[in-house]
Amino acid sequence: MHKELFDHIYETVARKESTYDGVYYTCVKTTRIFCRPSCRARTPFPQNILFATSVQEAIDAGFRPCKRCRPELPGRQTPDERLAAEVNRLLKQGINGPITLQEIADMLAISPFHLQRLYKRVTGSTPAVYLQELRLAEAKIRLESGDDAGTIAAVAKAVGYRSHSHFTAWFSQETGMTPSEYRNVHKERGRQG
Ligand SMILES: [Zn+2]
Repeated sequence: MHKELFDHIYETVARKESTYDGVYYTCVKTTRIFCRPSCRARTPFPQNILFATSVQEAIDAGFRPCKRCRPELPGRQTPDERLAAEVNRLLKQGINGPITLQEIADMLAISPFHLQRLYKRVTGSTPAVYLQELRLAEAKIRLESGDDAGTIAAVAKAVGYRSHSHFTAWFSQETGMTPSEYRNVHKERGRQG
């Protein structure tokens, strides 16, 4: 999981918000227990956490469900939450292509309008915004890596932009830096630190 996405989810854990309940599970490495992100228990340190995307994944990784928030109980994840989690999975898969709301709605056999509305209700965001977040996080990681996979053209392609200039314009708008500038800044930081 990218650091930005991790930080984003961790914030909701620290604030005990239910935004990602049913979408992610907070696995605590020190206690081997997993929780809903909104669990009222003391917030674990970020370095002790990993996020699973399903109850089964957490259990398979050797974590036991928390007695307090009972993340394993069926019915606590509403059908809408399950669907939002599925949308997130499809968005992650489609990060390098021109995936549309219509396509996701078709795959899940519901109307785009309904999909958009329930997604917003569950996560407070929209699939389009979340996809842009995923793309930006992926682009940053690749630019920071600085190897061949980090050429601007390769990065643009990896995050779904067929046009170099569209990618550059979007990236600049999101970060205030062109992709080259961003990469150079990180190279500088790498040398200094
Ligand atoms: Zn808990």
